[in-house]
Amino acid sequence: MSAKPKLRSVWVFHLNTGACNGCDIEILDILTPFYDAERLGVKLVGSPRHAHAMLVTGPLTRQCYHGAKKAIKAMPPKPRIIVVIGTCACSGGIFYNGYPIYRRPESGREGCEYPRRGGIIELIEDLRDEGEYVGPVIYIPGCPPRPEEILYGIAQLLGLVEKKLEGEHYTEEVGFELPEAPINERIRLTLREKLRHVVGYFDRDKILEDFMELVKKAEESEKPKEELKKLIDEYNAKIRDVRISFCMRLLENEYWRVRDALSAGKEFVYWV
Ligand code: SF4
Repeated sequence: MSAKPKLRSVWVFHLNTGACNGCDIEILDILTPFYDAERLGVKLVGSPRHAHAMLVTGPLTRQCYHGAKKAIKAMPPKPRIIVVIGTCACSGGIFYNGYPIYRRPESGREGCEYPRRGGIIELIEDLRDEGEYVGPVIYIPGCPPRPEEILYGIAQLLGLVEKKLEGEHYTEEVGFELPEAPINERIRLTLREKLRHVVGYFDRDKILEDFMELVKKAEESEKPKEELKKLIDEYNAKIRDVRISFCMRLLENEYWRVRDALSAGKEFVYWV
């Protein structure tokens, strides 16, 4: 928690940004008579306009992005507390970097793949960049977190209990470096990650394998760019599947982008 707000009670709005409903059920659980969150002053409201705090679940899908943004902007200007419930909402969880997950655009790292990211913090950073006030953010990880953990987080928010643990950060130089993979392997791994955004596991390796075969042939010719384009046209004409044709074109563009970045010696993060 970045600051301790002073609240006697808290009106909350529940926002699902693509959760599997596991976390949502735990939120309902704390409102049942067994856990009875209302005895702590927690009241679930039907509109973000009345909410002090937003209980957010889910990894923030692109589909939910604009709706979630509108909901947070609709909250009263202060205290705008965000209670992030579940590992998905904290970091994208098992869905991190999936193609439907929203991530802030990368900048200044041409040729790099995306770092592993996701969750509501991506939207909060966007809002803060736009000059919108967003209050303290409380993280309650777990898949899903138990009702007791959610209650404990809310009790901290209300100042009823103190945190038991303080976050500690260590920075230490270690003499370890990832071995440099051969350039072709670095390109292949990056393309594989790129492909993951548009095609499922089943077809991915097959499409990539076919594409790398075409690349190998094209690189042996004098004009590899033109040759690769021609080979892909032939391949697409034979396959006659627009989804695979789309993947091939995507891989072609990405291949030259990554290869040019590598040749120019730009910083390049690859997947292992
Ligand atoms: S953290 Fe687990 S339970 Fe919660 S939304 Fe994600 S996958 Fe579902």
